[in-house]
Amino acid sequence: MRDRIIFATTNEGKMKEIRMILKDLDYDILSMKEAGIQIDIIEDGNTFEENAAIKAKTIMEMTGEIVLADDSGLEVDAMDKAPGIYSARFLGKDTSYEVKNNYILNRLKDLPQEERSARFVCAVACAYPDGEIVTTRAAIEGFIGHEIIGGNGFGYDPIFWVPEYGCTSAQLPTDIKNKISHRGKALEAMKEIIRSRERHNDFSNTL
Ligand code: IMP
Repeated sequence: MRDRIIFATTNEGKMKEIRMILKDLDYDILSMKEAGIQIDIIEDGNTFEENAAIKAKTIMEMTGEIVLADDSGLEVDAMDKAPGIYSARFLGKDTSYEVKNNYILNRLKDLPQEERSARFVCAVACAYPDGEIVTTRAAIEGFIGHEIIGGNGFGYDPIFWVPEYGCTSAQLPTDIKNKISHRGKALEAMKEIIRSRERHNDFSNTL
């Protein structure tokens, strides 16, 4: 039987991307639902890294298993980097993304391209049962567009313009988004850390 890693998210949009990115890791990746965990974790950290570590550590302590978690968000420079770590809760956690996205478009409506810069940021934390916690971080730079465009992805994707591709991240096929995205890059870096820890353990076991 393969070892398991629980991914501490309840967001199905994210889970779909995460499964694709981690599919070549030699572990079964379980969502919280699949692991039978239902808990509301209070994300009261001040950074993406702190929030990711809080989520991973909480579930690791409940289950005794290896747990991955991410914390991500959109930083809009013209809004002093808001919504940032509050991206999911921005304007209220049950407010639709149509409303959140239109609010941001409206706030930036008279601004020229050079003042519309923004980025998605993602920190990933891995909590091991021995208490070790490692984190990685990555970002994708872009601009806030002028209208809601595209049906892929989730959240703020329809207003996030990716200059290299000349479209929003909601217009990118999932495999392309995963290759260039904040989450894709932070998870790729974490995969390397997980693999190197495994190689180290295998080596120690042969001694
Ligand atoms: P988290 O679950 O606390 O990490 O919340 C992240 C929030 O940031 C999501 O609910 C989205 O609002 C936003 N977000 C993060 N990554 C993306 C992305 O790739 N596309 C669109 N929105 C994102």
